[in-house]
Amino acid sequence: MPGLFEKLREVVLGSRCLDSNGTAPALMITVRCKHCGEEISTRVEKAHALQEQYEMVAGDHGEEPEISGYLLQKEILGEKCQRLIHLIMHFDPCTRLLKHEIEGGELVEVTDSD
Ligand SMILES: [Zn+2]
Repeated sequence: MPGLFEKLREVVLGSRCLDSNGTAPALMITVRCKHCGEEISTRVEKAHALQEQYEMVAGDHGEEPEISGYLLQKEILGEKCQRLIHLIMHFDPCTRLLKHEIEGGELVEVTDSD
C-alpha cells in the first residue's frame, strides 16, 4: 500500500521541510514606492534578518518551545524620494512567505537569492 506508506513518511519527515524551496541563503525583495513609483530591490540574508517566532507546545514535553515561523521587519528607502517603506513579512517554519504587511508602498516580487 504505497499510499499509506507515503502518508507515514509525511508524518515522520513532515517537519523537515523537504519540499521547501526556501533553502536559498537570501531573499531578493522588490517593492514599489507609493509616492514616486520607484521600484526598489533589496537583498536580505535569511540567517541575519529573519527573527524566529516561538510557540509554546502544550503536552508531556511542553517545556521545549517550537519554532512556529519567522518574522522579517524591514525599512526600505529609495533614491527618488525620502519616504521610508515599512515592510513586515511572515514566514512559516520552512521560511515560505505566508503573508505580508506594507506601508508606503506595495510588494512587487520576492525571490530566492544566492
Ligand atoms: Zn519614493
